[in-house]
Amino acid sequence: MEKQEDKLAELLVQNGLKRTLPRLKVLDILSKRDSATSQPFLEKVMGSDADRVTLYRILQTFEEKGIIHKVLDGQGTANYALCTTGCSQHEHHDEHLHFNCRNCQRVYCLDAVRIPRIKTPPGFSVENISLTAVGLCSYCSDNKSE
Ligand SMILES: [Zn+2]
Ligand SMILES: [Zn+2]
Ligand SMILES: [Zn+2]
Repeated sequence: MEKQEDKLAELLVQNGLKRTLPRLKVLDILSKRDSATSQPFLEKVMGSDADRVTLYRILQTFEEKGIIHKVLDGQGTANYALCTTGCSQHEHHDEHLHFNCRNCQRVYCLDAVRIPRIKTPPGFSVENISLTAVGLCSYCSDNKSE
C-alpha cells in the first residue's frame, strides 16, 4: 500500500509537480482500475477532494506531462488511462489498440496490441494516431446468457 503511494508520489516529483492530495488521489484511482476511467466517474469518486475545475486542471496537466492519455469512447466521453513508460512532456507514445465494449461501455488499453507504423504520403506527418475497436470485452463475453 505504502509502496504504491510512494511510486505515485515519485511520478509527480519526476514530472516537476507538487504532490497534492487530489493529484495523488487521481493517480491512485487510475492505477487501480483495469480499464480507462471516465471524467464523470472520477468526479464521483473524488467527491469533495476536488471540484470539477480542479479535476479538469489535474487531468490537463497529467496529459501534458505524459502521465496519462485520453481515449474517447463511443459516446465521445473522455476516458483517461495511465501511460506506460515512454511518454514524456508533450510526447505520447500510446500507440496501442483501445477497445470499447459496447455492452459495459468500458474502454480498455490493450497495451500488447501495438498499432503498426503507418506510411503516409510525402508531406504528411503523423503526430497522433488512435485506433479503437468496438465489441464485447472478456467480462461481458463470459456473462452472456446464450
Ligand atoms: Zn502517453
Ligand atoms: Zn464489457
Ligand atoms: Zn491507452
